[in-house]
Amino acid sequence: MARYTGPVCRLCRRERTKLFLKGERCYSLKCPVSEAVTDRHSRAYPPGEHGRDRMRQGSEYLAQLREKQKARRIYGVLEAQFRNMYAEANRAPGITGENLLRMLELRLDNVVYRAGWGASRSQARQLVRHGHIQVNGKRVTIPSYRVRAGETITLKAATRENFNVRRNLDTLERSLPAWLEKSDNGFTVAVLAAPERAQIDETINEQLIVELYSK
Ligand code: SF4
Repeated sequence: MARYTGPVCRLCRRERTKLFLKGERCYSLKCPVSEAVTDRHSRAYPPGEHGRDRMRQGSEYLAQLREKQKARRIYGVLEAQFRNMYAEANRAPGITGENLLRMLELRLDNVVYRAGWGASRSQARQLVRHGHIQVNGKRVTIPSYRVRAGETITLKAATRENFNVRRNLDTLERSLPAWLEKSDNGFTVAVLAAPERAQIDETINEQLIVELYSK
């Protein structure tokens, strides 16, 4: 499956906010968009030759575009897939923007990330792709698999001593959202219900995305 493989800090600099795409580094002073990095070497401006100039630009369309890109990049979804998800969210009953965010949250790689088994969504995706994750006892290797209420997601027994997984569980202080419940010493996560908007802590203004696609 296609995915973005370029430098990820560049994406955060483009959105001028932390998207937490690199795990541990994102919480350290090495992060180039860290608020604490204020010296002259800070690169908290958009990338590219005209990066500093871009900081001054602003329009309604640009704000909508940037919000869509931000959401896509946080969840690691490519443009075509994101557009398809939007179309499905639009067809579903309820508020389109909330439907879209809910669908993104219910991706299997996101649940693995929320569980703290992966330091970043890209590491979580790798755990899924490499067959370390089971849904209701069956191996699932599709990161975009949409989990449902009542399903249980389990880290394979052989992976529980994996160095990276252990380190993530020991060092990340990631709290589990209320729509998920851990058991089995933290190696199984049950999906209690689809998340409400208030339970999704990403700072995304989904209404701007809806306005962009409604043009
Ligand atoms: Fe890089 Fe993480 Fe900082 Fe983003 S939040 S710029 S991915 S270190």
